Amino acid sequence: MTGTTWQGDVDQGALPATVRADFPFFSSAEGAGLAYLDNAATTQKPAAVLAAVTDYYTTANGNVGRGYYRLSMTSTDRFEAARTTVQRALGAEHPDEVLFTSGTTHAVNLLAGTLGRRLVGRGDQVLVTGMEHNSNLLPWRRLCEEAGAELVVVPADTGGTVGVDAFAAALGPRVRLAAVAHVSNVLGTVNPVRELVAAAHRHGVPVVVDGAQAVPHRPVDVRALGVDFYCFSAHKVYGPMGVGVLYGRRELLADLPPYQVGGGTVKGVAHDEPVRYLPGPPRWEAGTPDVAGAVGLAAALDYLDGLGRDAVRAHDAALVRYAVTALGALDRVRIVGDPARDPSGIVSFVVDGIHPYDVGGHLDRNRIAVRCGVHCASAFLDELGLLGTVRLSFGVYNTTEDVDRVRDAVAGVRPGYW
Ligand code: PLP
Repeated sequence: MTGTTWQGDVDQGALPATVRADFPFFSSAEGAGLAYLDNAATTQKPAAVLAAVTDYYTTANGNVGRGYYRLSMTSTDRFEAARTTVQRALGAEHPDEVLFTSGTTHAVNLLAGTLGRRLVGRGDQVLVTGMEHNSNLLPWRRLCEEAGAELVVVPADTGGTVGVDAFAAALGPRVRLAAVAHVSNVLGTVNPVRELVAAAHRHGVPVVVDGAQAVPHRPVDVRALGVDFYCFSAHKVYGPMGVGVLYGRRELLADLPPYQVGGGTVKGVAHDEPVRYLPGPPRWEAGTPDVAGAVGLAAALDYLDGLGRDAVRAHDAALVRYAVTALGALDRVRIVGDPARDPSGIVSFVVDGIHPYDVGGHLDRNRIAVRCGVHCASAFLDELGLLGTVRLSFGVYNTTEDVDRVRDAVAGVRPGYW
């Protein structure tokens, strides 16, 4: 089963409305007529992804990397083919720079528990930005607490991004590691990752980039960005839940100890000999991996390629601009940050005098699904001086009509809805 292939004018900035038909969810009782605008939390899945997962379990299910029979080897081949698809999607040099994890959160914890423990000691510093999702904040905070190190937070500017000068100024001699979001999950603003990485590298500091909100909306090239590590989650790019990716530059991975240990990570174990861990991805993929999830992720990336990465980016950007104009025209509505400067699929707003939960509840009653609150980034919301926001996050199946429905509903929202 293949998805809609669109070969129209990219500048038009909108995918055809028929894309929605690629997603069976929207034909279900729950999905029909729903304006689903919480794609930053998770995306719906195209039929091509569901088919790939089902096909794997129907025709190729066997454990990977350990069976000397054909079915196991077929399964291993599918798993490794998925790795190669991710490698190409990220512009990585080698497939073995792609590790499968259970998601972005797992990927960051893996790095904090390996690279972090190796590099960071008492009196050292780890740099993060003030706009991080808890998943790219708490693993570093815990690492610092355990190591006796200091977590240095570089705040975002008023537009909602981290300035290169502010970041560079924080790169003192004690900084061992930096972790930055590519795109803010709260505001949809885009950090100047290439420049931040270049600044860090001038100080010999490796950079971990949380790409969870970037990969769904823009082509990402890890080599062009110069990043050392890059993480994302499959379920936010139209793939299955429970699987994600950690990209790491080969020379840095070569030095990285295993995170979890167990089956699949070793050459062989004898009680009286040191453990010899395998080189390459199996070292960090202890236990049975989510093979069907990886296969589904590859199908999702292929699906996006079929639509055209530039067309997807233009589509999501056009919806951001449309929403900023439509909502910005309403009295009492304030767009937070500057999501239209370099649009990346997310718009956050507040309605004066009305709690975001009241707005979200009202939208839900109008069959519009959005996220409201602090978006797993309460420290950032504190910095912004906000209780929370209402967040629209777009996917390939959204249309300007969805935004019109939000605008009309927000125009009618009243305080104390609940
Ligand atoms: N980082 C960012 C920027 C996110 O938006 C999210 C999820 O919303 C995560 C990390 C965590 O992703 P996951 O729950 O898939 O591990």
